[in-house]
Amino acid sequence: MKVFKFGGASVSTVERIMNVAAILQSYQEEPLLVVISAMGKTTNALEKVVAAFYAREKDQALELFQVIKQQHFEIAASLQEKAGHPGGETNITYLSDFFTEVEWLLHDKPVRDYDYYYDQVVCIGELLSTAIVSHYLNVIGLSNALIDVRDIIRTDNAFRDARINWKVTEEKVHERILPLFQLNQMVITQGFIGSTDENESTTLGREGSDYTAAVFANLLNAKELTIWKDVQGVMNADPKLYAAATWIPDLNYQEVIEMAYYGAQVIHPNTIKPLQNKNIPLQVRSFIHPGDAGTCIHNQKIRHLPPIIVYKNNQVLVEMKSKDYSFVSEGLTAAVYQIFESLKFKPNLTQSAAISVLCVVDEHPEKVEELALQATTHFEVTLKRNLHLLTIRHYNEQVLEELIKDATIVLKQQTPETIQVLIDHVK
Ligand code: ASP
Ligand code: MG
Repeated sequence: MKVFKFGGASVSTVERIMNVAAILQSYQEEPLLVVISAMGKTTNALEKVVAAFYAREKDQALELFQVIKQQHFEIAASLQEKAGHPGGETNITYLSDFFTEVEWLLHDKPVRDYDYYYDQVVCIGELLSTAIVSHYLNVIGLSNALIDVRDIIRTDNAFRDARINWKVTEEKVHERILPLFQLNQMVITQGFIGSTDENESTTLGREGSDYTAAVFANLLNAKELTIWKDVQGVMNADPKLYAAATWIPDLNYQEVIEMAYYGAQVIHPNTIKPLQNKNIPLQVRSFIHPGDAGTCIHNQKIRHLPPIIVYKNNQVLVEMKSKDYSFVSEGLTAAVYQIFESLKFKPNLTQSAAISVLCVVDEHPEKVEELALQATTHFEVTLKRNLHLLTIRHYNEQVLEELIKDATIVLKQQTPETIQVLIDHVK
């Protein structure tokens, strides 16, 4: 058994969906669970629908939704045509229920909180994309079963940031997914979404499909998980920011977790744990060049990694200085962490000195203001905004030199393996 995950970019057009079909065609020897994201930027578009609905702009919400509906109809019709079954958009009946569900909701007035509606509307993106792809594959003879992941992934009701109930989910995988594999080589389902005990839809946080795929790999004891992306694999830097960026053929779980922690947008950070726990390798491969090797992420030690460069932009330096020159004691340090905890906010870097504590945080305006406000009980607080946190793992002087020349260093922290510098602008 293998698990595949195809992201939004891999199914954003008719041609790309056909390309996914071609990839799947070459993997017909063993059972495959395929997780597919919403097409292209559909999730962003659906977010706008929810915002309009919640602002009580019903007409605008319906109009925005109409555009999404039309795009999906067109893609579905065009795929049907490519498969030699013309009939136009009127023939696409299998999507109607999804549309009706959302349209009904949009006709109501919001009475519950925003996050609840967000999940009820946004989940439709993945339901549509998987229905379209599954249907197309069946038409061209790649037979598969489609399952609504909301019948499998059970979560709590923390809408937009739901936690998976592993026990119930595992039972559902055994009850519902395994039997499907007795009749089908391929099962298609959604990432990113789940449902509560009350059958309300939930989402796991943006970009959560990687995580869903890892959960399935874990529960199905898969041989491996492959995430198909529009890049060759994991690079050691963003090629847009660092021309000498190179592809890394081999990485281990720990390195990827560290990269994600420092802000690299490689893979959703939650993805690694379910894989590591069962020692399941993760392949990151290109859907554009499916013959290329990609990056393999596993449990083994790796020597010789190139410098790995990660930028986090929009950083704020929060400088907290004790008011009366008293030393920063455990009590004061604990007070700082308590504030962070109460705000559900995490510093990206901290440094303490005799009478001050420095924290670097993401620019999250309300949280930053609240943090500063609460900290003034104990400290004199100053904020420095618009900074960039550059992290280099496995650094060498030459790379560091090159990346910080012309920048002013505001703060620096280093271990033999990792250096972090807070700078005022990116080269
Ligand atoms: N469609 C969702 C998003 O764009 C989930 C995912 O793609 O992983 O955030
Ligand atoms: Mg995505």
